[in-house]
Amino acid sequence: MTVAEVKLQEAVGRLKESGVRITPQRHAVLEYLLNAEIHPTADDIYKALEGKFPNMSVATVYNNLRVFREIGLVRELTYGDSSSRFDCNTSKHYHIICDSCGKIVDFHYPSLDEVESLAEKVTGFDVSHHRMEIYGVCAECKTQH
Ligand SMILES: [Zn+2]
Ligand SMILES: [Zn+2]
Repeated sequence: MTVAEVKLQEAVGRLKESGVRITPQRHAVLEYLLNAEIHPTADDIYKALEGKFPNMSVATVYNNLRVFREIGLVRELTYGDSSSRFDCNTSKHYHIICDSCGKIVDFHYPSLDEVESLAEKVTGFDVSHHRMEIYGVCAECKTQH
């Protein structure tokens, strides 16, 4: 089995444990997400799967994503007014985002815990989490200009 297949089995196992019924569409959305490295939007997923499931709607995709999010299989990333993107890597990591095509790429860096404790000390807040994004132009876009 490939790493992606193992991940898919684990994810399906977690859905079953949570009492979620696994329809062919739900399975396909999950499989697409686990193989996608682009942090797709619901629309991206819909477009990728509509050929296979002509009866599927964008609403179905959203519904599935909501179920996955509630179980903790995906993280929803929101950026201002643009559509949410979905990340099935739920471990702590940071993102770098292309200003030109909007692609989001994962990268790992030690979590900035000191910033959180400093923010707590300075403001008296109970800090729950933080977000940090790096912006720039990706390698592909660079070669196109
Ligand atoms: Zn780009
Ligand atoms: Zn990510």
